[in-house]
Amino acid sequence: MGHQMYKYDAALTDAVFDYCRERLAMDPVPLDYGSLAAIPEHALDGLIGADGNDPGKILNFFEEQLATSVVSIDSPGFLAFIPNAPTKNSLLFDMVVACSGLNGTSWLESAGVVAAENQALAFLANLAGMPDGSGGAFVSGGSMGNLSSLTVGRDVGRARRPLIAPHELRFAISSDAHSSIGKALHVLGVGALLVEPDDHRLTRATLETALANDPRPESVIGIVATSGTTNAGIVDDLEGLGSYANEHEIWFHVDGAYGGAALFSPTHRRLLKGIRHADSFVVDPHKWLLAPLDCAALIYRNPTVARKILAQQASYLDILHTDDDELYEWNPSDFAIHLSRRARGLPFWFSLVTNGTVAYETAIQSAIDLAQRTVRLIESMDHVEMVRPSSLSIVLFRRKGWNAERYNEWSQQLLRDQIAFVTPTKWEGETVARLAFLHPDTPDEMVHQILDSMRD
Ligand SMILES: *Cc1c(COP(=O)(O)O)cnc(C)c1O
Repeated sequence: MGHQMYKYDAALTDAVFDYCRERLAMDPVPLDYGSLAAIPEHALDGLIGADGNDPGKILNFFEEQLATSVVSIDSPGFLAFIPNAPTKNSLLFDMVVACSGLNGTSWLESAGVVAAENQALAFLANLAGMPDGSGGAFVSGGSMGNLSSLTVGRDVGRARRPLIAPHELRFAISSDAHSSIGKALHVLGVGALLVEPDDHRLTRATLETALANDPRPESVIGIVATSGTTNAGIVDDLEGLGSYANEHEIWFHVDGAYGGAALFSPTHRRLLKGIRHADSFVVDPHKWLLAPLDCAALIYRNPTVARKILAQQASYLDILHTDDDELYEWNPSDFAIHLSRRARGLPFWFSLVTNGTVAYETAIQSAIDLAQRTVRLIESMDHVEMVRPSSLSIVLFRRKGWNAERYNEWSQQLLRDQIAFVTPTKWEGETVARLAFLHPDTPDEMVHQILDSMRD
């Protein structure tokens, strides 16, 4: 007689699978309302008690009251922030990972799934032009990938510059770098040489000027470049920055959380050629590589160095590390600031393996193509104008004569009308409109509707 909580409940299983089936069959996934559909006050009160509730009722409550107050990030109408558009195969396989409790912590416990995750990482590394043997782990997000990489970069820098006090070491970063970079440096107690790039794109020339004007250039132990800024999609001069880093033996990190996916774009992958110089590279499958949250690929040029710095030491973990077999080098837990982890790379792996790379190329390219058609449309209209050229799949534009309040009202109305979820952003101090395309099923018709909704 097992514990009651482990008894198979066929009716509940059917109900949950029916719910999942219904979501999976939605074409398109509806936006829903986010905080516009705030859940009734006290709706959750008293649910946790000594005796449980009827699961069917709670599933209904979830479906009707909680789930609708989420804006579905996987809807083709979600064009704010950076959307997430998991393929059907990736969602289905995420269920497999969940139901089989797939642990992806160590080679000892999970050799099979780690091998598959590593296949996906090696594929990405190869696409990025990084050498054979590059590798790492899937982590929760770009933020964790950045923090882990910069930890390794810092320690390598300390070893290379033993005469400089650790608290004086710095990374060169652009003022357009993602906020998680600043946060990582804060956690690490490492300073920044903050470079203000021309037109928001960090180049080798700008970096060299900043270093020439800096009193302590030798304290710079690494460069952080962005391959696709989150706000505008701008790709730094990866080739120039990467070759500078190599020539000067400093760490080169490329944050491609959003735009690294353009490696799959036949027209734009050339912008990312310089990633081949990276010591560490991050790209989020949960953004533009069409996998479910939460999944970021963290890849090191020299995984052994990362492992030596980041592996957790504890007597109960010794068995994961003492064996000399080279396969034991591949504990995903050793490559980032984490230990236990689900095999979160597998939904991406399954989708990549089953759909094939051509499907990824066409899906990713379609977002760039839509961005470019949107630019032409905006240029053909009188009430709107481009703020700057589109980059990758992001379009920044302004509605002539609008202030921040007007943009906010319009954004809420679009969601209320279930047309799209578009939020304004700031560009050089000005509130402007921003479209982040990602879902391959976002129709041109929706873009027309969005732009028309900005007329008086
Ligand atoms: C989204 C993003 C991040 C943060 O990634 P998370 O997965 O949200 O933690 C970091 N850098 C860039 C450029 C991003 O677009």
